[in-house]
Amino acid sequence: GLPVIFAITPTYSRPVQKAELTRLANTFLHVPNLHWIVVEDSKNTSTLVSHLLQSTGLNYTHLHVETPLKFKFTGGKKRNPPRGTLQRNLALQCHPGVVYFADDDNTYSLQLFEEMRFTTKVSVWPVAFVGGLPYESPKVNSSGKVYGWRVLLDPHRPFAINMAGFAVNLKLILTKPQARFKLTGVKAGYQESSLLKDLVSLSDLEPKASNCTKVLVWHTRTQTPILRKNITELADLIGEI
Ligand code: UDP
Ligand code: MN
Repeated sequence: GLPVIFAITPTYSRPVQKAELTRLANTFLHVPNLHWIVVEDSKNTSTLVSHLLQSTGLNYTHLHVETPLKFKFTGGKKRNPPRGTLQRNLALQCHPGVVYFADDDNTYSLQLFEEMRFTTKVSVWPVAFVGGLPYESPKVNSSGKVYGWRVLLDPHRPFAINMAGFAVNLKLILTKPQARFKLTGVKAGYQESSLLKDLVSLSDLEPKASNCTKVLVWHTRTQTPILRKNITELADLIGEI
């Protein structure tokens, strides 16, 4: 049958979490042969996420791994910590298919999943709303090869691409156990490069989305709502949310 897409979603507890995951589940429900790997950034899996996953009817795996506190943004001096790192790594221990790192807050067109499904090594495409541009994109030459990056931020990164801009054939990941995300020693904006340089070279990249001329994913970010009561107080008032 169709190759399976493993969509790996790190996620953490916050007021908008259920909304993000609901929206993402609604997207994934339209994608055939997709397996959702949800990795909670927490000591335990939560009942909120367990119930949500059960209720979707999607194929899923529910995991958890907590980011050590010192790597979290807690208002302290570490302003730009790596986010979702250990969670993505944990999920990389899976089966034949294609992996895609689908953050819980982005917006995904359904076409995107069909573009990535037949990835041989690593496929790439534009991502909207990152790095101060309407969209960032791989540069593709007339013979359909990626030769650089149309980005503002640090264009000399080996792979100047957002997490949402590529998918990897799992075979490749399984043959390269050193290729993992790292919590330390990787500058902000270099997580993607750090992983991809261990997997492929530029000439291996498979441009998708009509040779990277179409935007099929948007790096949207959800505004943090201003709440005058927290969820625990509210649950006390009106029962379980
Ligand atoms: N995330 C996480 N733990 C955190 C912060 C973020 O697991 O402490 C997850 C988050 O739910 C998302 C991914 O990591 O799926 C990327 O985080 P975010 O969307 O905040 O990053 P950005 O939009 O800034 O790239
Ligand atoms: Mn995000």
